Amino acid sequence: MPELPELEVVREVLQRRVVGQVIADAKVIPPGGPIVVRDLTHRGFEAALTGATIAGVTRRGKYLVFSLQGGEAEFLAINPKLTGRLQLTEAGAKRMAKTRVILSLGSGQELRYVDQKQMGQLYLTHNLDAVPEYAGLGPEPFEVTLQAFRERLKPFRGEIKGILTRGAFVAGIGNAYADEILWAARLHPYRRRTQLTADEVGRLHTAMQSTLSEATDKVRLEMGEDIHLKPREFMAVHMKTGEPCPRCGTAISLVGANQRITNFCRHCQPGGLIKGMA
Ligand SMILES: [Zn+2]
Repeated sequence: MPELPELEVVREVLQRRVVGQVIADAKVIPPGGPIVVRDLTHRGFEAALTGATIAGVTRRGKYLVFSLQGGEAEFLAINPKLTGRLQLTEAGAKRMAKTRVILSLGSGQELRYVDQKQMGQLYLTHNLDAVPEYAGLGPEPFEVTLQAFRERLKPFRGEIKGILTRGAFVAGIGNAYADEILWAARLHPYRRRTQLTADEVGRLHTAMQSTLSEATDKVRLEMGEDIHLKPREFMAVHMKTGEPCPRCGTAISLVGANQRITNFCRHCQPGGLIKGMA
């Protein structure tokens, strides 16, 4: 679920609240470990974390990365995928359902990882390049210039929404923010990259940066310190099927189902004829 704007705000909160803290205890629930934990150090996930100090929290694409000192691993990299989230709480506070990992901090607080479907992954490693897909991540959306953006697009020939969500193209954009960016750029999500004009690619680059930047500001306001929340009410089209487009008032269209839905405005984002839809 979390994409760049949410993870960026989670990073800010954790940078402020947990850096310098010692991990006094690490617990995987149930004991023995659910599938979410990948211990690339082979020292034991709980043992390797216990006693380490959190030296920093960074974000790369959809990974949150904790730099560690004094323990048996250098990094804890968390990719929450669609269903994972972090929670910072007082020790002993009631657990949310599906709490999978608890790090007890020296401050008396607990950093918890909660995952409804165990889709996310936690990697404990000496080397981030050993984390699957991490080394192949494309640039961060705010760091890619228009010229580099045009160059990076060239090898991709499919539908533009699919390209935007590929971490190897740019990092940090998922299903929800791809819908928002394409709405802002007034591009139909199923337009093929090869059909886009130079002007349209320019609009897409501008929309990518402005949409993610504005969303990060809105998430920061609504999330506050409650990093387990996922504020998205402010979105223009994603999960707004049937509601009026904020730009033109046309009812928002829906294609797909479950966690792979696409929302767009067929008036503002014309073209891209697909399976029985105009
Ligand atoms: Zn519209």
